[in-house]
Formats: sequence, C-alpha cells, structure tokens
Amino acid sequence: MYEASLNELEKRLRAGPEHISIKRGAPMARYTTLHLGGPADMIVSPERPEQVRQVLTEAHQLGLPVIILGNGSNLLVKDGGIRGVVLRMCRDMQGIEISGGRIRAQAGAMMSTLSNAAADASLAGLTFASGIPGTVGGGTYMNAGAYGGEMSQVVTRVEGFDMTGEPFSYDWLQMRFSYRHTRLMDEEKLITHVTFQLPQGRREELLAEMVDFNRRRAEKQPLTQFSAGSTFKRPPEGYAAQMIDECGLKGFAIGGAQVSEKHAGFLINKGGTAADFLALMAHVQRVVYEQKGVMLQPEVRILGDDAPTAAV
Ligand SMILES: Cc1cc2nc3c(=O)[nH]c(=O)nc-3n(C[C@H](O)[C@H](O)[C@H](O)COP(=O)(O)OP(=O)(O)OC[C@H]3O[C@@H](n4cnc5c(N)ncnc54)[C@H](O)[C@@H]3O)c2cc1C
Repeated sequence: MYEASLNELEKRLRAGPEHISIKRGAPMARYTTLHLGGPADMIVSPERPEQVRQVLTEAHQLGLPVIILGNGSNLLVKDGGIRGVVLRMCRDMQGIEISGGRIRAQAGAMMSTLSNAAADASLAGLTFASGIPGTVGGGTYMNAGAYGGEMSQVVTRVEGFDMTGEPFSYDWLQMRFSYRHTRLMDEEKLITHVTFQLPQGRREELLAEMVDFNRRRAEKQPLTQFSAGSTFKRPPEGYAAQMIDECGLKGFAIGGAQVSEKHAGFLINKGGTAADFLALMAHVQRVVYEQKGVMLQPEVRILGDDAPTAAV
C-alpha cells in the first residue's frame, strides 16, 4: 500500500508539464553536512513554488509523510533513513529580489548569497548570516543567528504552504521568533519566500565585517570536518562549548563520532554512523548534567528511523 502510494506520487509528479527531479532510495548522507543518514524512500527537488504545492497536495492525498530539507546543515538523519517524501528546498528556487531596503528571497537561496547580495546593495543587518551554511528557508525556520545577529531581527514576512498545500503568510509577530525557535517548528509549515526589511549601510564596511566574521569562524570552528554546527543550544546557564570543555570531553569519541578538539560545541563525524553520533550526544549530555547540573538540549534536528537490527 505504502509502496503503491509512492509509485503513484512519482507517476503523478512526472506527468506534470515541467521537469521535476525525483530520486528513490538515495542515502541522506549525501544531503547533510554531517554526511550521516540512511536512504530516503523518495527525494523530490521542485524547481518552482507551484511544484512544491503539487508535491504537498498529492502526498497529502496519498497519505504520505513529507519531510522538508534545506541544505541539511542542521540535520542528524538516523541510519535507517527516512520513510516518506523528502522535499528538498535547496537545489532550486534561489531567487533574490531587492527593491529599496526590502529583499524578498526564495527559500532555496543560500544565506551566504543573501548576505552578499544585501551588502552589495549597501543594506545592513545580514552580515551575521554570511558564514551560516544553510538556506534562507532553513535559517528562517531555525531562527538562525551568529555574532549578535539573528533572522528575527530582519525578517518581516514569511510565506509558504502548510502540509496540505494551503498557502500561508505570517508577519514578524505571527512568526513568534525566540532563540533558535519559530512557530513553524510546532506547526510544520513549508517556507517558499522570506521578506526582509533592512537599513542602509556602507557596502565596504559590510563586506569587511563579513570577512572578519568568517575569519573568526575559520579560526575557532572545525570547518573542514563534517558537522552540523553547534550540536547543542546555548543553555541559560552559560555556553555549551565551555561546559563540555570543562568536563574534559574535548576529543572524546564514540566510534566515528568525536567532540571536536578545536571547538567543544561541535560534535563531528569522522566516518562513523548516526548511532555513534547519538550515543556521543547522550554521553555528553549525561556527563555535563552530572558535573554541571545542566541538561543540554540539541540544536541539531534529529530525523528518521534507527537502522533495522539484524535478525538473530
Ligand atoms: C559549520 C557550520 C556552522 C554553523 N553555524 C551556525 C551559526 O553560526 N548559527 C546558526 O544558527 N546555525 C549554524 N549552523 C547550523 C545551520 O547551518 C543552520 O541551522 C541553518 O539555518 C540550517 O539551514 P538548512 O537549510 O541547512 O536547513 P536543514 O538543516 O536542511 O533543516 C533544518 C530544519 O529546517 C527545516 N527547513 C529547512 N528548509 C525549510 C523550508 N524551506 N521550510 C520549512 N522548514 C524548512 C527542516 O525541516 C529542518 O527541521 C551551522 C552549521 C554548520 C555545519
């Protein structure tokens, strides 16, 4: 029944007038910066908002679950992979329109591209985003931030579809932004467009600030290794990285997952499995809780199924 529904969805999507990329059984490790994750039953990469809507509508009619994927830079996908349809909002839909101090970007645009485009147009407020390796959609959904900046400071409107394909449009207040959280996390809605309102700045200063932020990142973060950025959210009591470091966990490894030697807030994949990574996360949480009395909460989003256990 499930397989028949997937086949039917593929048939309906391929019957459309425009090309749409559909992959069956591709490993999610290919689509995440952690390079972890088993196969997804179907990965669909729409090129236009109307196709996004069609995927959502048809999948809903067929009773198929849909998971939204951006650049996969904040995702830990488990070894058993993903049942259902992964809707990839990254490869296409990258348009950015600028008019005065207003920018309207499509969800698939990279944050770095958006940040550059804003600086080029002498618009301030998005330099913080230049080194965040995610999409505008993923960054808005996560309320991503760095160096004192955050999406909530610049976003004015978010548009997209709910999981049945019905359009929605939220203004800033309706988004209920808070630290690495938005209402979309509680409602499951897909972002297609984000509008920003930005103050004027000086192009040269903005570009220089971006260079400085990226230099500081490269100095402190293990950017040449597979990670999803900071694994844990910043707790109210202090900094996760400092606590992990003070617990003596820098460099600690389980299988191929390791607490980075360079930045203890980054757990990295050195060729292990998602199970290794989850075990390391749990170990770090336990040790920090025992020694500091603080329960670290994951910032990375965990998706998918465990690997099937071998029959005995
Ligand atoms: C080296 C490194 C450094 C990082 N530095 C930072 C940092 O400084 N600050 C920071 O905040 N983060 C940082 N991150 C984490 C990550 O880049 C951000 O969270 C980013 O915003 C995620 O965007 P994405 O497109 O990769 O989303 P994904 O990882 O693909 O998805 C993240 C979540 O967003 C949802 N999502 C994605 N696209 C959409 C959409 N169009 N509509 C609705 N939901 C969607 C997904 O379903 C998922 O739940 C870093 C990651 C790495 C690897």
